[in-house]
Amino acid sequence: MSKQGKIKNGNNKAKHTKLLNQKKNKIREAKALNKQRLKTLITKSNLYKQDCSCGSGNLYGDCCAIAHKSIELVTTAEQLMRSRYTAYVLGDIEYLMKSHHSATCPLKEKEEILKWTKSVKWLRLEVLNIVKGGVSDTEGMVEFKAYFEENGVAEVIHENSRFNRENKHWVYLGEL
Ligand SMILES: [Zn+2]
Repeated sequence: MSKQGKIKNGNNKAKHTKLLNQKKNKIREAKALNKQRLKTLITKSNLYKQDCSCGSGNLYGDCCAIAHKSIELVTTAEQLMRSRYTAYVLGDIEYLMKSHHSATCPLKEKEEILKWTKSVKWLRLEVLNIVKGGVSDTEGMVEFKAYFEENGVAEVIHENSRFNRENKHWVYLGEL
């Protein structure tokens, strides 16, 4: 074998090793991605079988998950209020935006809200009073208390929320 040939052969070998490593890395990445997907799927299906965070006493899959999947299926202002609380718990920012009236929707603070809700520990929701907001109503009011812990300090949001309908479904208008 000539000197030239040896060098060439060496180069080929290096190329081959590089390609092999790239292939190995790709397989490793694909495996990790699959694992992650599976984990998310399991977490989701577990979540469906857990008590809903809104405190209705129903499983998440039979409660706020329905609203989170199709907001059009929410029939009362109370349901919307509860599903929004659960969306805060789950960090479902898209739902929080979708369930907000377009005139008052804090789109600009979207990232900030997401960051905040993920940083606090949601404890429970108490629905205190409901005015209208029924199946055949066009507006309604729900008074609630949402308990959470922020930086280790117990906090509570006590609010009278106003709701009406937009795009054929209930939306949150704002505080009374
Ligand atoms: Zn619920």
